[in-house]
Amino acid sequence: MSSTASAKNGTWRNWGGNVVARPAREVTPASVDELAEAVRRAAEDGLKVKAVGTGHSFTSIAATDGVLIRPQLLTGIRKVDRDNMTVTVEAGTPLKRLNLALAREGLSLTNMGDIMEQTVSGATSTGTHGTGRESASIAAQIKGLELVTADGSVLVCSEKENPEVFAAARIGLGALGVVTALTFAVEPVFLLTAREEPMPFDKVLAEFDELWAENEHFEFYWFPHTGSTNTKRNNRSAGPAKPVSRVAGWIEDEFLSNGVFQVAQWVGRAAPGTVPAIARLSSRALSARTYTDIPYKVFTSPRRVRFVEMEYAVPREAVTETLRELKTMVERSGLRISFPIEVRTAPADDITLSTASGRDSAYIAVHMVRGTPYQGYFTAAERIFTAHEGRPHWGKVHTRDAEYFAGVYPRFGEFTALRDRLDPDRLFQNDYLRRVLGT
Ligand SMILES: Cc1cc2nc3c(=O)[nH]c(=O)nc-3n(C[C@H](O)[C@H](O)[C@H](O)COP(=O)(O)OP(=O)(O)OC[C@H]3O[C@@H](n4cnc5c(N)ncnc54)[C@H](O)[C@@H]3O)c2cc1C
Repeated sequence: MSSTASAKNGTWRNWGGNVVARPAREVTPASVDELAEAVRRAAEDGLKVKAVGTGHSFTSIAATDGVLIRPQLLTGIRKVDRDNMTVTVEAGTPLKRLNLALAREGLSLTNMGDIMEQTVSGATSTGTHGTGRESASIAAQIKGLELVTADGSVLVCSEKENPEVFAAARIGLGALGVVTALTFAVEPVFLLTAREEPMPFDKVLAEFDELWAENEHFEFYWFPHTGSTNTKRNNRSAGPAKPVSRVAGWIEDEFLSNGVFQVAQWVGRAAPGTVPAIARLSSRALSARTYTDIPYKVFTSPRRVRFVEMEYAVPREAVTETLRELKTMVERSGLRISFPIEVRTAPADDITLSTASGRDSAYIAVHMVRGTPYQGYFTAAERIFTAHEGRPHWGKVHTRDAEYFAGVYPRFGEFTALRDRLDPDRLFQNDYLRRVLGT
């Protein structure tokens, strides 16, 4: 499995390289029983417990100085249920493996994020999402969930069974227990036609409501220091499939989107004054294209340039104003931003601490290439996001605490009360959870 989180000399490091931890010990359970035993032993030894995925979170949400539970041996498909159109998978299964296995069965998830390196449990625990008009995050596609709680027992939940646990545990932040299996809704595999097209920033903002309403999945990237964006519309299609050809795919995805972009980032880091010119060139390097393929091939693509990211969900009706403020901030600040800003949407969902909980949302993500100072930019962006009652992605850089979350999540107390019940001694605690959930 492509675990990008490395463990050298007992040190655990995340993908972005901005979080480092030194767990007291590591375990790699091969069964639910072994995992439950590891949880009980940690409690006896007075150690905290943290299950990790592939370390793709930019926050310290997965960091621990206690027992680190690795996912590698808890992987695979448990059951495909064609009557109920669900698939049950072990919690450590990488999304990539799930997508490939489903495609072989003629099935697919409905929506997903930009990459598929993460584990199913890691991705859902922080609310990983793509973009969608009706279809929401990966966690919103969960139909059932199994977790080992602090006393080492196995708890199963769904809409019908332990519904109060189900409401929260789909995006559990690793705070309620260790997830051991997830059941997802699936549908017969379908085709999506992607239309990628450069569009002026002012036009996208002026027409945002129509672009959102007319497309099942609309998103765009805005290149700071320019008036240019690259838009992407994905809609279901009757076919035929017309994949990106291998050469074009390599040139556009690898060379232009990743390779050239990598070089541009190096140049920009060495000489920040060149960033606006590079941004203009980068925005022009992408041209319009249309292709049709199965969902995961349209939704996801490799990300070879390492970066650090902050992403906030704002009420959808606030997105254009928020973006205008962001543009003004970048122009006035003297900051040099070489990384595009990504904008996506999600419909309101019913998960307690989902960033889209009870609210139609738009996501705005700011990035900086790894190794460049990001604090000034992220602080200024965060000030704008929080003024719109933004909710930060649980797995991406932010500075918010429990007091803030109690204000922007109407059901925050519901989550902490459930945590008090399931983990009264805070076996699954770490510094991040102490900050965002309170003691
Ligand atoms: C290149 C890149 C692209 C990304 N693209 C997107 C995107 O398109 N959309 C988006 O929303 N996010 C995106 N992210 C963020 C990423 O999806 C999330 O941070 C996700 O949580 C990472 O999954 P992971 O398997 O690496 O989990 P980790 O980062 O290792 O862990 C995340 C959380 O899950 C918990 N966890 C893991 N396994 C278990 C378990 N078995 N039981 C209980 N808790 C568990 C951990 O304790 C931790 O709290 C991206 C990140 C990167 C680096």
